[in-house]
Parts: sequence; structure tokens; C-alpha cells
Amino acid sequence: MFSLPSLPYAYDALAPVMSERTLRFHHDKHHATYVKTLNDLLEKAGRPPQPLEEIVRQAVGKADEKKLFNNAAQAWNHAFFWATMAAKRGAPSGELARAIDTGFGGLAQLKDKMVAKGAAHFGSGWVWLTADASGALQVRATHDADDVLTKEGLTPLLVCDLWEHAYYLDHQNDRKGFLEAWFEALPNWEFAGYQFSAARGRGEPWRHPAPESHQDGRQARAG
Ligand code: MN
Repeated sequence: MFSLPSLPYAYDALAPVMSERTLRFHHDKHHATYVKTLNDLLEKAGRPPQPLEEIVRQAVGKADEKKLFNNAAQAWNHAFFWATMAAKRGAPSGELARAIDTGFGGLAQLKDKMVAKGAAHFGSGWVWLTADASGALQVRATHDADDVLTKEGLTPLLVCDLWEHAYYLDHQNDRKGFLEAWFEALPNWEFAGYQFSAARGRGEPWRHPAPESHQDGRQARAG
């Protein structure tokens, strides 16, 4: 059983780019529903507790596990998404800043690239900044629940949610405006720096909080 991870900041901390109203719907309804559906599917299948990363990687591409993949990946993507944002505006530093200069020509060019990629993406999905083991950065988009966990050798540094529920209450249909505002204010560059180091083999990348065993769950409920 997975728990819904709490937001790492207050509900109003990301306003005005993401209002408290948006976060209450997005975290407490959308994200919570993915976690609940995931737990229901795991329970019905009688599966032992497993890290969420393994569930996502095992289910990808399997026709009979499409629903499990969608809910597992969305549970992971949302928890990661919250972790990649910060209430306090920051800037990339150190070797990540240098890699952004090398890969894109600078932070402004990276912003243009992420905004363009996300704005042009058809339908729902996610826009990611990733690194490989050589430290090469890439901007890529994935459809619906698909993520970069399933792409061999890639570590995600940042992600932005392109589903309409992420921005419609605050920006209506202006996805491009949302992405510009998101990039300016919300990326957690310190977190992205840790992920970049992990991609290069120094330290561990972010992982979803582990599931509690069914027995732990019973004890917790009994207590
Ligand atoms: Mn979402």
C-alpha cells in the first residue's frame, strides 16, 4: 500500500503560478485518486509490496497491465513533480549550470526549449529535463502517464505537468503562459542539482517513498 505523499510546502506556496485551489484539486483529488486506484489494483492482484519504480518498469508496455502502469506511473510522476518545485525561487549552480550552458547555451535557451516542447505537446503528458550518465541534458515530452523512468539510462531532473488539471484553473487554456511562469518561479534547482549528480553516478536519484506492507497497514489502522 502506498500513501499519498504530503506536499513538501504549503498549499498556497506556489501561488500565483499554481494557486492553493489548484493544488488542493491536483494533489488531494487527482494525485490521491491515482494512488488509491494503484493500491486497489495491487491489492486485487495480491502482489507483495514492491518499490513503485519497479512496478512502473515491470508494467510498461504490457497490454494486460495498462491500467496498473497508468496509475503507478501517474502516482510516481506526481510525487516527483511536487519534489521538483520549491516555494523559493532559485537558480542552477555548479556543474548543472555549466551543463545547461554547454547543452543549451544558457538558462534562457533552456526555458525557451522547455516552454516550446510543452506548449507544442498534443494532449496530456509531461515535459522533462533529463540527464544521462555522461551529463548530457535533454528536454523531452511524454504522453499521458508515460515517464522517463522506463527509458534506460535517463535520470529526470525536473518535470512539468501538461495535463489541463495542472493549469486550467489559474491559466485557462494558456499552457504556454503557464509553462513560462512555472519555469521562472518554481523549479527546485537544488533538487535538480542532486539529480544531476546522481545521473553521473554520485549519489542516489530520488525515489518514491516505499510502500508499507499490508501487515504494517493493519497495525497502523489497529493502533
Ligand atoms: Mn497532474
